[in-house]
Amino acid sequence: MNTRTASCACGQLRIVCEGDPELVALCHCLDCQRRTGSAFGLSAFFKREAARPEGSEKTTRRLGDSGRGLTFHFCPDCGGTVYWEPELRPDWFAVAVGTFGDPTFPKPEKAVFEQRAHPWAKISF
Ligand SMILES: [Zn+2]
Ligand SMILES: [Zn+2]
Repeated sequence: MNTRTASCACGQLRIVCEGDPELVALCHCLDCQRRTGSAFGLSAFFKREAARPEGSEKTTRRLGDSGRGLTFHFCPDCGGTVYWEPELRPDWFAVAVGTFGDPTFPKPEKAVFEQRAHPWAKISF
């Protein structure tokens, strides 16, 4: 089975994920743009029993556009968000795909919040 480790930029906060993600999705929402500092967010969803966080972390919670809460886990040293808990799917962790540092990571299957997309960043699947 594939084991992949995601980590923040300084490597202190990690999450070890077993097997392939349940879902990989690209999100154009403004919260993802602000969280990443980039034009969109990429999330990989793993069942909680398949993902093991390591290292110290801080958390922050906000409401998503769905009205459900999201609790983000980030590194207190470098500030990078590595994973979060979507209350919409309480049995899953979402992991920021870029934190795997792996260009061979499975590609996204869908895009959401396309109405917020930068026009050049619309990606068709
Ligand atoms: Zn860090
Ligand atoms: Zn988003």
